[in-house]
Amino acid sequence: MSVQVLAAKMAEVELKDVPGKELTPESPLTPKADDKGVVENEPKATSATTPTMEPIVKTGDTSPGFLTPNTKMPQASAMKRTDPQQNGGEAFVNRDGTVAEAPRLKKIQFADQKQEFNKRPTKIGRRSLSRSISQSSTDSYGSAASYTDSSDDETSPRDKQQKNSKGNGDFCIKNIKQADFGRREIEIAEQEMPALMALRKRAQGEKPLAGAKVVGCTHITAQTAVLMETLTALGAQCRWAACNIYSTQNEVAAALAEGGFSVFAWKGESEDDFWWCIDRCVNLEGWQPNMILDDGGDLTHWIYKKYPSMFKKIKGIVEESVTGVHRLYQLSKAGKLCVPAMNVNDSVTKQKFDNLYCCRESILDGLKRTTDVMFGGKQVVVCGYGEVGKGCCAALKAMGSIVYVTEIDPICALQACMDGFRLVKLNEVIRQVDIVITCTGNKNVVVREYLDRMKNGCIVCNMGHSNTEIDVASLRTPELTWERVRSQVDHVIWPDGKRIVLLAEGRLLNLSCSTVPTFVLSITATTQALALIELYNAPEGRYKQDVYLLPKKMDEYVASLHLPTFDAHLTELSDEQAKYLGLNKNGPFKPNYYRY
Ligand code: NAD
Repeated sequence: MSVQVLAAKMAEVELKDVPGKELTPESPLTPKADDKGVVENEPKATSATTPTMEPIVKTGDTSPGFLTPNTKMPQASAMKRTDPQQNGGEAFVNRDGTVAEAPRLKKIQFADQKQEFNKRPTKIGRRSLSRSISQSSTDSYGSAASYTDSSDDETSPRDKQQKNSKGNGDFCIKNIKQADFGRREIEIAEQEMPALMALRKRAQGEKPLAGAKVVGCTHITAQTAVLMETLTALGAQCRWAACNIYSTQNEVAAALAEGGFSVFAWKGESEDDFWWCIDRCVNLEGWQPNMILDDGGDLTHWIYKKYPSMFKKIKGIVEESVTGVHRLYQLSKAGKLCVPAMNVNDSVTKQKFDNLYCCRESILDGLKRTTDVMFGGKQVVVCGYGEVGKGCCAALKAMGSIVYVTEIDPICALQACMDGFRLVKLNEVIRQVDIVITCTGNKNVVVREYLDRMKNGCIVCNMGHSNTEIDVASLRTPELTWERVRSQVDHVIWPDGKRIVLLAEGRLLNLSCSTVPTFVLSITATTQALALIELYNAPEGRYKQDVYLLPKKMDEYVASLHLPTFDAHLTELSDEQAKYLGLNKNGPFKPNYYRY
């Protein structure tokens, strides 16, 4: 059976074929029509759909017609990405929001001014960032994809009165005149986002998000635009702000504003702008969100802090990032989470594809764009052989680099050995390597002692979430000179003339200095869309005030929607085989504890 047929069949299963008792009879993609044919979107409480759940870490065990009853996520596995050590600190408190530009041939000055919200800062003040926004909001993401640099126009978007061609001015972006260019960027992204386009097609008949008022805070890129336009096609109204002060593609924001979206974002926001934009999204007379789509938790935090009563109408939160999910688990633990939340970050389709395949491609892109380095024959040490490390190692090995790996976990270490990499301690190779890459999610993996011993010209970068893996702070000492040689590229020079090449000041290399593959973002965006549909349509009682994982079947569905791109032909279980394995022919095909 071809994938197309299977996907169609799965869709059918979602819509009609869901059997009996514990299983949920409706797909979220199928709002119920009453006898008069009126589409009904309000969920109803049914005891049959009340799942049995594990506290704190849960799998949403009901889903678009492909519910798995009594599915439990083993704590250890589900907690992997939410370990406080990975994210550190308390919920909503950032460790280091400093993003001051390094001046040429000058020691870096740190902006440490804190600005009060709504107190309009000076232009210089707007560029100085305090420590209170999340790290992810200062990690630039895909910024290289934005070809329109409007630095010649210094007027703050907040000081401009702009309207789209229909006279609508409910947005705040850099320049509405860039809309046509942005539209072309969105069209290019659509070509690599097949699952969202498939959802749109299905939405021609169904509007599973009719009545949904989604407030979003994510990177505003062409790929996000495809997601937003899909949500709208599914019936939602959307208002959006950026989750990162650098990542907005201005031309895309313009295209969205021209298309009638209320977007509040531009590239190079100050912290004050950042919160102002979020506030403009949320705080509108006569409009109140009932769904949150967040990346990093800042939007959720803002609503908690400023408009807690809004949660009375909010049906759920969908959170994509490690950091944001960590914050949600903290809220949940403290008994303060007042609506159900979906942890998209730990979906198999997000973690396996985003972490492994995205990094496998973007590590080379990030290094190339910043340094023009040739990979063949170079000695590289990759710290951490998890998903991200595996992706980086595979890419560099394929390019002819000699790759060393450091690990603390004997299992991952053995994997590295079996994959043909030399497992070493960092101090054994630090003098000889040309490139050092951290991907551990840990802190202080590359400390000053190692930086001192590196050879001249060694490139140092980080692919992990936070900027603590390389002890960059230890390089800010009087005897070292910093020279900004390119955007996001610093030479740190020792008194004897030795220099190392530090990329993105130790922040995520690929998200700071290159783009990430649209196809991977398509997988994540589809998961987000399905999570919104699921939470929005879930009958009361299915989800409590806690954090859930998407059902396995939904993960499988996201993957199946992407298979036609490859003209892939999936094998169908025979009845006999299904019986033998004890599986439903339509999935889920693996237990929740399965490690792909
Ligand atoms: P993972 O947990 O699968 O892998 C991390 C590995 O690092 C583990 O195997 C762990 O044993 C090892 N490790 C921990 N401390 C170490 C140390 N001191 N020295 C050597 N090894 C050590 O996590 P992952 O999915 O590979 O993600 C790693 C980091 O990358 C996380 O911070 C994650 O948020 C981030 N991430 C980045 C991207 C990106 O696009 N750059 C994408 C996804 C995730």
